[in-house]
Amino acid sequence: MEELTQDQIRSLEQQLRHDHETALADTQDQMRQAEDVDGESLAKYPHDTGDMSEADRELDTNISMAERYSGAVGDIEDALRRIVEGTYGICTECGQPIGYPRMQALPTAKLCIACQERMEHRPGAVSPPTM
Ligand SMILES: [Zn+2]
Repeated sequence: MEELTQDQIRSLEQQLRHDHETALADTQDQMRQAEDVDGESLAKYPHDTGDMSEADRELDTNISMAERYSGAVGDIEDALRRIVEGTYGICTECGQPIGYPRMQALPTAKLCIACQERMEHRPGAVSPPTM
C-alpha cells in the first residue's frame, strides 16, 4: 500500500473534524434526552412503584446510546492526534501504510486490512475454536 499524501491526509482530517462535530453534538443531544427522561420519570412514576418502569428502560437505552457516541468521539480524537503525531494511516500492528481507500471508508482505522482480519480471527477472541 502507498503511504498517504499530504493532500489525502488533509481531506481525511476534514472528514474527521466534520464527523467529530456531528458525534459530539449527537452525544450532547443524547445526554440531554437522558436527563429529560430522568426528570419525567420522577414526575410520572413515583418512587414507590416497585417494578422497573418504562421510563427507566428508556433511560438505560439513552445512556448506552450516549456511551456509544462518546466511543466514536474518542476514536475520532485518537485519529486526529495521530495526524498531529505523523502516525496517521499507519497500521499500529505491522507498521505498514493502511492505504487511502480503506482510510476513506474508515477514517478512524488503526489497522490495515490484513491485521484487522487477523484480529477478528484470533483464536478465542470472537468464536470458540471448532473441534
Ligand atoms: Zn497491519
